[in-house]
Amino acid sequence: MNKSDFDLSRQNQHIESRIVAALERISQAFRVLLWQESKTYSLSPIQVQVLIFLSQHSREKRKISYLADEFNMTKPTLSDAIKALEQKNLIRKEYEKNDSRSYVIHLTKKGKDIADKTSFFSEAIRTPVSELYPEDQENMLLSLLSIINYLNKSGVITIQRMCFNCIHYSFSQKGKKHFCHLLNKPLATTELRIDCPEFQQENVE
Ligand code: SF4
Repeated sequence: MNKSDFDLSRQNQHIESRIVAALERISQAFRVLLWQESKTYSLSPIQVQVLIFLSQHSREKRKISYLADEFNMTKPTLSDAIKALEQKNLIRKEYEKNDSRSYVIHLTKKGKDIADKTSFFSEAIRTPVSELYPEDQENMLLSLLSIINYLNKSGVITIQRMCFNCIHYSFSQKGKKHFCHLLNKPLATTELRIDCPEFQQENVE
């Protein structure tokens, strides 16, 4: 009989199940930390995530449909979060000249201040990661990027602005080298990006 990763007899015999269980614990830590930070500012976790995203991304990504894809949510649910942020005077909308239903979302000064402060919610996770040996960090980055790429390709998660699915990326099997054709330079494993401003989606067959 097929057993799940949370079946302890399977988990204790298979390293991949223990890794999955460990990733689940880390996702719980993210949820707890984000929740604590949200409570401080009387916001919901998704409202905090949206503020942080808006503070770091260019205007073409600061639209409802892009945000809905980014956060794997429906447009109405995302619109509700934006409405709540507008009522709290943390964002403002700039309507497009040629389409009065479409708008770009900007942070207000107050919204930017909160985004800057709350973006430190993950510090408790960065600390133990920063204490790993450099080669373990490198292996971890590569492994996580591979898992994320797989989940993206199989449709579990949407948009991923990372090297592995960027049109400018190539990998030489022979030399085991990563290369960015936009920056026109080889990329060391430690330079592979997970959220690149220059990312362009590769063509999907
Ligand atoms: S443009 Fe950015 S995401 Fe694309 S390969 Fe270069 S560094 Fe990676």
